[in-house]
Amino acid sequence: NTAGAEHELTDGFHLIIDALKLNGVKTIYGVPGIPITDFGRMAQAEGIRVISFRHEQHAGNAAAIAGFLTKRPGICLTVSAPGFLNGLTALANATTNCFPMILISGSSEREIVDLQQGDYEEMDQLAIAKPLCKAAFRVLHAADIGIGVARAIRAAVSGRPGGVYLDLPAKLFGQVMDAEAGANSLVEVIDPAPAQLPAPGAVKRALDVLKGAKRPLIILGKGAAYAQADDQIRALIEKSGVPFLPMSMAKGLLPDTHPQCAGAARSTVLKDSDVVMLIGARLNWLLSHGKGKTWGDAPKKFIQIDIEPKEMDSNVEIAAPLVGDIGSCVSALLEGIGDTWQAPPSDWIDAVNSKREENIAKMAPRLMKNSAPMDFHGALGVLRTVIRERPDAILVNEGANTLDLARGIIDMYQPRKRLDVGTWGVMGIGMGFAVAAAIETGKPVLAVEGDSAFGFSGMEVETICRYNLPVCVVVFNNNGIYRGTDANPTGGTDAATTVFVKDARYDKMMEAFGGVGVHVTTPDELKRAVDTAIDSGKPTLVNAAIDPAAGSESGRIGNLNPQSILKKK
Ligand code: ADP
Ligand code: MG
Repeated sequence: NTAGAEHELTDGFHLIIDALKLNGVKTIYGVPGIPITDFGRMAQAEGIRVISFRHEQHAGNAAAIAGFLTKRPGICLTVSAPGFLNGLTALANATTNCFPMILISGSSEREIVDLQQGDYEEMDQLAIAKPLCKAAFRVLHAADIGIGVARAIRAAVSGRPGGVYLDLPAKLFGQVMDAEAGANSLVEVIDPAPAQLPAPGAVKRALDVLKGAKRPLIILGKGAAYAQADDQIRALIEKSGVPFLPMSMAKGLLPDTHPQCAGAARSTVLKDSDVVMLIGARLNWLLSHGKGKTWGDAPKKFIQIDIEPKEMDSNVEIAAPLVGDIGSCVSALLEGIGDTWQAPPSDWIDAVNSKREENIAKMAPRLMKNSAPMDFHGALGVLRTVIRERPDAILVNEGANTLDLARGIIDMYQPRKRLDVGTWGVMGIGMGFAVAAAIETGKPVLAVEGDSAFGFSGMEVETICRYNLPVCVVVFNNNGIYRGTDANPTGGTDAATTVFVKDARYDKMMEAFGGVGVHVTTPDELKRAVDTAIDSGKPTLVNAAIDPAAGSESGRIGNLNPQSILKKK
């Protein structure tokens, strides 16, 4: 350097922002506070969209679903200890669901934390995060920020996607270094999620098993939706002629109204199929672990496509494991299928079709009931029409009965339009998912929420109003959890454990923040309110009064409740 010229300096704040921007991060979901308040301000000043929530769990859920929708890690930013723990729930949930996200939390002074001398929000966050996510890293030196961010991104999206924790101690943000050295230390991740090609022998084995089938079935899971191999998957299904069953977040990969869709014949195809090809779906509790009554007595062979080799044989024997990314695996199968492929036997196709038509016909009249008090079917019947008329809208869905019934009733037409409670069946994803869906896609969002489920994230309607997002929340208000009719068994004045304030007006919550609130009591009113909301793009909450007696314990999974032998009938 020439004499007198000053070295330009940079610091931790700016290196983190530059590292994120270099890797294409456009949005951060978070909650401000010590030690990351200024970081959020600076990130916004530097052109990153910073969406501030009211609680970290919802910011985390937003980041997680952003990851699912975009195949890039969603970023959640929190303060230390309690804020970190709030975000950690979402990180663990993202990991369970195989959604890529990075939780970045500020943390307190290392020296004091490690000696347990009682710092402000003291906690060894790295150690706590580690067992709950895919990878966890801490950066201590400004010069390592570039590589730390790069590792976090690659860890989140490569192989089976998942949650990554990045621990940034308060001191790091203010650390100073030479600007040029800083710029040189940044890393733009090359090919963060490399294609993983299946072995040719494995492809042939899979095709041989499929060829031998008399009653084949393809199950599409949310891994298939995540993979964004929509055209190949559609081609494989149509070319093979095999009926397909979408798991809930795979609905719409092919339209639910597709002639090969066996969604309305679910129990029949699970029971009677002889060869099942799983594409990005695990044989976990949601598929009764691949055995037992649900799957019938006839012997069954499984073909499984998954990027995670350890997933094979996790519950039952996999006759043809196909390890690789879904795009590559499905393309290889398509190539191998060739032009001489025989469609499945027609008696199987006929059996599936007639079961489907029978079930659809049985359901139809229940969806047309237009009177008060509304039941779930009547209300969902009109929301089903809303989505048919607006197939590009994103449907967020949680609750017990509200979830189980909406999943079956509302047909989806496009990939990645249905976002719900996922692998854990967790309540509380609603508003976080709705915010991120609106921000990441720019499409209208319809969030169909049980009143109980809505309560977990309801305060985020303020966030929806603050960013003026095109989100219409419909609260199915039956005055309680599962139902609104339970009474305190002692006859005392305390409410029963599962009921809420009777006839609450959730619509007023939205009005409190400048959004539109509507109270409806009939399916016609509900349809009109939702259409108006979506047309206007204004934040809207529709309080849909549902018969308090409608709804069954735990929806479709009541069997998971332990029973006391002493319980009175
Ligand atoms: P669902 O609940 O819809 O049945 P799961 O979450 O159980 O779906 O399964 C998703 C599966 O998809 C996981 O086992 C995951 O490893 C796999 N997966 C995710 N992304 C890919 C990908 N790009 N290629 C292959 N498999 C993937
Ligand atoms: Mg309820």
